[in-house]
Parts: sequence; structure tokens; C-alpha cells
Amino acid sequence: MVDLLGQYKKIKDDVDKAILDVIESTAFINGPQVKQLNSELSEYLGCKHSICCANGTDALQIALMALGLKPGDEVIVPDFTFIATAEVIALLGLKPVFVDICPETYVLDTGKLLNALSPKTKAVIPVHLYGQCANMEEIMGIANNHGIYIIEDNAQAFGAETKVKGVMQKAGTIGHIGCSSFFPSKNLGCFGDGGALFTNDEKLAEKIACIANHGARVKYFHERVGLNSRLDTLQAAILLVKLSKIDEYISARQQAAEKYDFLLGSIEQIKVPVRAAYSTHVFHQYTIQAKNRNELQKFLAEKNIPTMIYYPAGMHNQEAYKTAGNFPVSEMLCKSVLSLPMHTELSIGQQEYIAKSIKEFYNK
Ligand SMILES: *Cc1c(COP(=O)(O)O)cnc(C)c1O
Repeated sequence: MVDLLGQYKKIKDDVDKAILDVIESTAFINGPQVKQLNSELSEYLGCKHSICCANGTDALQIALMALGLKPGDEVIVPDFTFIATAEVIALLGLKPVFVDICPETYVLDTGKLLNALSPKTKAVIPVHLYGQCANMEEIMGIANNHGIYIIEDNAQAFGAETKVKGVMQKAGTIGHIGCSSFFPSKNLGCFGDGGALFTNDEKLAEKIACIANHGARVKYFHERVGLNSRLDTLQAAILLVKLSKIDEYISARQQAAEKYDFLLGSIEQIKVPVRAAYSTHVFHQYTIQAKNRNELQKFLAEKNIPTMIYYPAGMHNQEAYKTAGNFPVSEMLCKSVLSLPMHTELSIGQQEYIAKSIKEFYNK
């Protein structure tokens, strides 16, 4: 699905030196690379504050804590996402409310979002799924009209851009807080766990940094309940090297996606991903909808082609989060989506082999 070794080999000298520098400095926690990464992330994204933390799940949890939500408050999330988005809501004693998604773009359906609002709704976490933005213009409009917070789950769309008020803005910088993950397979990935929060609000930025550091601004003086959620200096050093290549990585993914479109577009039994008019797509995943999906996946596996099902079950169907409700799009997608290999090192030969094999399956 990914080729992390191939990507590493191309930047090996820079990465190895960055790692050795940290080891020799022994500043393993809060070393200068962490500060530098925060500042380079802000510069790249065009936001005022970036605060790195231990992983993307912590980033979401810290965001909810920083907004001061109280047990019983409702937080709306798409039904079709990675579990972390809902998990942190439940962990804090808040109530996750699931909303169905759009059948073409796989992101939060804003019409259904409006219907799900209640007096207890305090926040919405739109997920920029697979690398394409939720409709932030509409979502920010709803947030402003109803006085609710928006936390963008930007774990899959680092570097994507979307039009809000006529201006292209980077995903993760539009809501009150944006959260990202540097899990190795994400578009900007480190060599372990990592995450970050983004905001343009100085007070929120201070709170976030305080929560991520045991609730202390001054060492050993704890003004609130916090977490130990830091990004290792080693990971920051690696991310600095990779952040300098991120636009190349994004364009390699976009080119691979166009190639897939070209190779697969004419196959009747599958649907290639639709691009929203309001957003760029950074293709964390290239996800098709396929007839006889499970059989196709098995057939491809026999040809040594890895594929993944993101996701086989919606939030409302997860044992820990069972909820009644109507989620026809999410349920349909759980049965039909299939993510094909997508990464920066994908070759045209590999893509042709994958396309040929998919055609072979349907022509059997
Ligand atoms: C990866 C991911 C997360 C969590 O990130 P971790 O760094 O693995 O904790 C959250 N939300 C979405 C949509 C993700 O894809």
C-alpha cells in the first residue's frame, strides 16, 4: 500500500544526519527542532500557531479539552471515519453524534449536519477524508450561525486547500482548531507516532500547549488537568526534512491519481474518486467503489496487489459506539469502498499491472 523504504532512500543522507544531530545533542525532549517544526508548519500552512504533540488522536483530544467542553455536550462527527475521531469524544464523557456523509466525496453531508444540531451541540469535527476537504465554507457558515466550534480532523489531508470566502486556504487552518497526524503512512509521516494542532487564536494556542505539557505553563505548577503529549525531537528532525519535500510528495500522489483515473475510468463496475469543485485532493488514499468488492480484493491479493478497506463499518455499527439511526450512504460505502496502493513511489508499471488485474477480474 505504501513504500516508506523507497521514499526514505531518496532522502537518506539528510534524514540520517538529522537523526545523528539529535542523538549527539541528547536534547531528546523539546529540543530546538520541535520549535523549528512548529514554526515551519505555521509558515507552510499559513496559520498563526502550530503545536506538535504525541499523535493525531491526542491532538483531537487536546482540541476538545482546550475548548472546555463539558460532559454531556454533543459533538458531531461523520459516521464514516477512523475511530479516533469518535473515540476522543467518548473518552472525555462527551456525546458523539454521528452524521451520514456524501456519496461522491465521502465527507460530512452538511444538509444532514443541520438536521443533527441540537441545543446541546457544542462542536463539529469534520474529517477531510482520503485527502479531500469537507465543505468548510458551508460548515463554517453553520458554525457561525449556531455558535459552535469546528475542529478539523486533518490527519489525511495535510497540504490540501479549499476555497472559503473566495480564498484558497490550507486544510486544518479554517476551523477554530485543526488537528493532524504524522503516523508513518500519512502524507507527512514520521518514523513513529506524531501529531500537531493548528489555530489562529492565541488564547487557544496557549491552552493547547499547556494541556499537552501536563497542564503546566511553568514547570511543576499545574493550572489544569493535562496530558504528557510531546513530539520527540527525533521525530521533529525527521519531519523537518520531509516537510521541505511535501509539495513534491503531494504532486507525486496527484499524478498517480490521474494515472489511475485514466487506466480505470472506463471500467463500468467501479467508480473512481470524484474531485470536489471547492477543494484540492492530496490523495492520502485513492479509494474506488467496486462491484463485488470482497471478491475483487481477494483476486487482487492473489496477484500480490495489496488493497485496504477504509472502513468496513461505520461508527454507529461499532460495538463500543452502537447507535440507532439512518446512515444509508455510510452503509453502502462500507460494502463497496476499496483503497488501492497510493504513495509517492508508485510506478506507472505497477499501476498498469493493477489496472490490468482489475479488468481481468471483471472480464472473468
Ligand atoms: C490517522 C488518523 C487519526 C489518528 O492519528 P494517530 O496519529 O494515528 O493517532 C485520526 N483521524 C483520522 C481520520 C486518521 O486517519
